[in-house]
Amino acid sequence: METIEVLFSFIDKETEKHAESDQSTYLDGLLITLNRWLDVEIKPEVEPTKEEIRKAIQLAILKGMRQSSQPNHQMTPDSLGLLVGYFVEQFFEKEIKEDHQITMLDPAIGTANLLMTVMNLLGDKIEGFGIEIDELLIQIAASSAELEGQPLSLYLQDALENLMIDPVDAVICDLPVGYYPNEEIAKQYDVKADEGMTYAHHLFIEQSLRYTKDGGYLFFLVPDHLFESEQSQLLNKMIAKTAWIQAVVQLPDTLFSSKAHAKSLFVLQKKVDGGKAIKEVLLAKVPNMKNMQALELFFAKVRKWKKENKA
Ligand code: SAM
Repeated sequence: METIEVLFSFIDKETEKHAESDQSTYLDGLLITLNRWLDVEIKPEVEPTKEEIRKAIQLAILKGMRQSSQPNHQMTPDSLGLLVGYFVEQFFEKEIKEDHQITMLDPAIGTANLLMTVMNLLGDKIEGFGIEIDELLIQIAASSAELEGQPLSLYLQDALENLMIDPVDAVICDLPVGYYPNEEIAKQYDVKADEGMTYAHHLFIEQSLRYTKDGGYLFFLVPDHLFESEQSQLLNKMIAKTAWIQAVVQLPDTLFSSKAHAKSLFVLQKKVDGGKAIKEVLLAKVPNMKNMQALELFFAKVRKWKKENKA
């Protein structure tokens, strides 16, 4: 058996045991398992790497979420995380080469699978920050990061209220999509709808820009129909005022449960004095990930775009 299988089987057995004896959900049981592992009360028979730990925990979270999760709380799988990570690498190539530490915020961190995928991919170059409103998910995030030895500061709160963090170099976020119920808070945003409730995903984009350094980059997984709603004019206006759009990359439908849930990667740069918009926004579609030849062409297109626009 491969290390990940051995590790998943170790986590799964323990988790089932706790879920059954406490009559709780699988995810509650998973949290107990991760914490006992951290306290060395239990120990797997293998010596896993950070990525093997993340992948085994990812499998357990997937199993738990199949049982009990709402669509908006779904973990971001690494099929998406690795693509986000690829783009983070492209935009921070210089910093990575020069061994600079990058500060990165995920304002809707959930289980932290997305952020950990990117942090592990870039190899100890990122100091992470995360905000989450769900108590169980943020605890799973904390334990996973600790087991993987990744530096992550977490805040349990509504991410649309004031945050206690300094501006970061980068934001990544698989945005929660839907209406935001707190009108008092929504009022403090330019994207607030003139009538009725405002879209949470629009508010998250504006809030993320507030906590990004000038010139920093933001990588959002957004619904494909982001610019087609009745509130999109307000979003467009806010973005035009504060950021330069870098890329809109449509992701393959096959990665989502239905076409209606399909997402794109939306990359922004926060405006900076003395900077300017790029010549050409990257508009691309990621092909089916099983088609290696088409994928190679896609990566070549990104490299060409980067040479012409980001050199
Ligand atoms: N990337 C995450 C992962 O890998 O697990 C999944 C993100 S999930 C699509 C969106 C997350 O946003 C959920 O975990 C949800 O609880 C959180 N969320 C929704 N509204 C929030 C708010 N106002 N403040 C903070 N977190 C919020």
